[in-house]
Amino acid sequence: MRQYWWATQSDNYSRVGGTLWTNFFNSRGARRSSSAALARTKPGDIVFHCEKRFIRAVSEVVSEPAVVYRPKAYMEKRSGSDNDEGYLVLVDPLKTDLQIDRRTDIPFIESDGSGPLNINRGLKREGFFYPLPESSAGELLRMAGLEISELPKASADEYLEPFSGAGLTETDRIGLAKRRVEQRYLRSALLEDDATQCAMCHRGLPEDLLVAGHIKPRWACTEDERKDFTSAAMLICLIGCDSFYERGMIAVDDAGEVVRTSHSTTSELDSLLDSLTGNKCLRHDSRTAAHFRWHYDNAFME
Ligand SMILES: [Zn+2]
Repeated sequence: MRQYWWATQSDNYSRVGGTLWTNFFNSRGARRSSSAALARTKPGDIVFHCEKRFIRAVSEVVSEPAVVYRPKAYMEKRSGSDNDEGYLVLVDPLKTDLQIDRRTDIPFIESDGSGPLNINRGLKREGFFYPLPESSAGELLRMAGLEISELPKASADEYLEPFSGAGLTETDRIGLAKRRVEQRYLRSALLEDDATQCAMCHRGLPEDLLVAGHIKPRWACTEDERKDFTSAAMLICLIGCDSFYERGMIAVDDAGEVVRTSHSTTSELDSLLDSLTGNKCLRHDSRTAAHFRWHYDNAFME
């Protein structure tokens, strides 16, 4: 059953395209209702994004909710509680550049206490994520030039298994559109500023040559580990390192350095592996070390 949601995003909207995130608790330590709402989203749900006065975009939810630490794009400008956890949901836009005025264009959205609007039809300050009834969503979709009957059909295998880059066969790999969503999330979660570097070879590459690789295969992760996206994932390049790591030809040792297999290969491959040996792995830290250790012990061909 498809659900419809309203996301109030104020000045976050342009910085965090492709993601919805909120922490579990507000600054007074009370559980956020928006966090509970975000946890109820399902792939295929539809989200209306409202930035200040206007509804700007319609998107489709393309991942299950995952528990992650605050993504970088959601860091507060002032320093403070940046190490908190919350739910993250990835979305893929269906329509952007809309200008639906919430003050004049959407009288069918009630301002009765449970929705996103207060009695003056302003945006409520507390909370950012609200369910919408299907009838209201239908009206909004029509204004956006979409019909419910035209929406993409929800199909479970279309949707994103977050961070399924490494350890999967080609048929398991997700479609390119979903990969773009994943990459957008990566920019906010994994990338330091504008750097787009492979964790192993350190080459700076365009994002379509970098994938979100699982440090430890998904099947070997506990449920909690799967939910902690950011510790389970690294940015790794498609022009060598992803295949080497997946096949156990390289691994990362406890010192955080890349090691290579001793198995003899072609001389060209040998020199490629040699060139990686001793590199500091950019994703090795106290949160990821145990995952790299698992890969070293179980997947590396010493
Ligand atoms: Zn690389």
